[in-house]
Amino acid sequence: MDSIFQPKQITIGENSLQDIGKCAKKQKITRLLVIIDKFLTTEPLNYDDKVNQMIKKENIVVTFFSDYQGEPTTDHLKAALSVAKKERINGVAAIGGGSAIDIAKATALFYRDPQMEWSAITKQDSLKRLPLIAVPTTAGTGSEATKVMVITDKKKGIKMNPGHSDLIPDIAILDPVLTSSLPKQFTAYTGVDALTHAIEAFVSTKANLATDQYALTAIQIAGRSLPVVYNDGRNIPAREEMLLASTYAGIAFSNASTNLAHAAGRALGSRFHIPHGLSVAVLLPLVMRFGLQEAPERYAQIAIALGENANKDIHELAEQSIQIIEKYCDDFQIWKDALNYIHLQDLQDNIDCLVKDALNGNGILTNRIVPSSSDIRKLFLNLVEKLNKVKAIKQV
Ligand code: NAD
Repeated sequence: MDSIFQPKQITIGENSLQDIGKCAKKQKITRLLVIIDKFLTTEPLNYDDKVNQMIKKENIVVTFFSDYQGEPTTDHLKAALSVAKKERINGVAAIGGGSAIDIAKATALFYRDPQMEWSAITKQDSLKRLPLIAVPTTAGTGSEATKVMVITDKKKGIKMNPGHSDLIPDIAILDPVLTSSLPKQFTAYTGVDALTHAIEAFVSTKANLATDQYALTAIQIAGRSLPVVYNDGRNIPAREEMLLASTYAGIAFSNASTNLAHAAGRALGSRFHIPHGLSVAVLLPLVMRFGLQEAPERYAQIAIALGENANKDIHELAEQSIQIIEKYCDDFQIWKDALNYIHLQDLQDNIDCLVKDALNGNGILTNRIVPSSSDIRKLFLNLVEKLNKVKAIKQV
């Protein structure tokens, strides 16, 4: 028997943000804290002003919080909680990427339950939290539909990522107009992150019939729309498809787990301060190759979802699934961009620590082949080799 957890309501469509006031009212919110990505509050976007108008119509008092930079930390959370307490809020909304949504999840939880220990979150039968609405502006992390929140502990320097089904937002609003301002490179990083969620969920040992449907649909939709939005960020129908793909991929992995690409990607991202999506994207083809022999029929289905002709040998299709992802990494400059963050000698010198961090991360035990430390070492050495080749070509 399997249970699937997801938001109670998913609202999707061009200008669906207009619904945010009604959604807040439905959640009985009267004093709302909106955690909003700072970029979205600048000219000419001014989403704080727009959202203020939308929410005030419902007689809801609204306060905005944008005082965070980069990916969220316990310091950002502390600042958000302090505003929340001062404003005596009774609901939280996030308008932003995974960073804004994860701060909102943590604020909703720790406002209601300040004594909660991070390490105890996953062990609770249920959590007390404020009502929560998520409006993703990247596509993405899928955080609007997942039970996970990722916050870096500033003191210990580690990324905490506890999961509990009560952390899934009540309502997700998927408005493609909001993602149309996302720059090309973040469109690529976050888009491949969504694909990675779906692919990892599909080959996870925790996959089930239901998560497979979300994962395969996400792979299919992202496969046709990601190249479109990368080349034309203002294509609203394709942006809408990417948002749905990201949400479905989020539901898939939230219920079936991510695996080695995320465990190793989180280790790499934390050590070299790489944007989350990029750190995962750069490892995805190498992780797929590691798992290929164990589940060729699953990789073949991934290739078919990505548009390959089904009328071929399973092993040929499985190999093609990797080639398609490698082509995305080439076309979207994923390898080249990784070189802006990673000094190759540093990567080589830090392999021991990376292996240790990856082994301690979530998603190792649900990988179809449970990787040993020497497997993960080889994975990072393969990354060094690949990036060396890219660097050599770049210098010619
Ligand atoms: P992000 O929220 O950090 O945003 C990335 C960049 O894009 C920022 O510079 C931001 O200002 C900008 N941006 C966002 N939306 C924009 C828009 N519409 N227009 C222009 N610029 C925009 O990136 P992300 O990849 O969405 O989130 C990363 C965080 O999410 C990491 O901390 C990661 O660990 C976490 N994460 C969480 C989950 C989960 O289930 N909770 C899953 C995967 C990753």
